[in-house]
Amino acid sequence: MTTPAPHPSSEPCRICGGRLLSAFEGLLLGDTPVLYGLCEDCRSLLLPEPTWLERAYNTAFSPDPDSGELQRTLFVQRVLRRFRHHGLLQPQFRSLDFGCGKAALIRLLLDQGCDAWGQDAYPRAAYAVERVSAAWPEGAFDLITAIEVIEHTLDPVGTLLDLRSRLAPGGLLVVTTECFDEKAHGPDWIYLAQEHGQHITLFSAAGLRAAASKAGLAHRLALPWAGKDFLHVFTRPEHSLPAWGRLRVRMSHRRRERRARKDACA
Ligand SMILES: [Zn+2]
Repeated sequence: MTTPAPHPSSEPCRICGGRLLSAFEGLLLGDTPVLYGLCEDCRSLLLPEPTWLERAYNTAFSPDPDSGELQRTLFVQRVLRRFRHHGLLQPQFRSLDFGCGKAALIRLLLDQGCDAWGQDAYPRAAYAVERVSAAWPEGAFDLITAIEVIEHTLDPVGTLLDLRSRLAPGGLLVVTTECFDEKAHGPDWIYLAQEHGQHITLFSAAGLRAAASKAGLAHRLALPWAGKDFLHVFTRPEHSLPAWGRLRVRMSHRRRERRARKDACA
């Protein structure tokens, strides 16, 4: 097997600092050719020097290419309910949804009596406008969620550090992202999301853990969605999650997600 050539960009992996190798080509926004870089060390997939990002965020896509947002929000809400039921979260908690988009998760949590807040650099919080701003809300949070955000970041470790600093003692950071697997994923991987050009940091499973560890966070739990590990839970290293709680959540997750799929077909 031949070793891939070095990536022509001199930018190192923004997760671990490793050297980038040439992976495969892509076409973003319908008109911008790119060459994906594979990190020699953490095996994550990156787009270095993303000069198109401003245009990518200033373009109004219609229809919205992210048609899964609502399904994803309902999935996260179900998972949080399991966390509460099995003692990983208190019945009432203070939460922050980072990069909250339309704020659907915040609305659902507010309706359940939680003290839910959101931060978004581009606020368009249709469902909870009074709870969201581009500035960070004051105080600490028992739960911080970053749903489909981390793969958009130019500085993933710095972002995780920011989130960690806002966790209350014993707080949970919940991150969703699909992990890159170089044996399974190629130029046709749907999660490259080339139509909007915003997925620039695609973590391998090892890369995600490495970034979290650099940010002073410990990976505690991964839960699947549609057959793949998708939702990751981190805490500060000094706060673990009870083993029995994790086990019950895993078992309940498997059973209840199966039922949710059946209900969707009913
Ligand atoms: Zn790397």
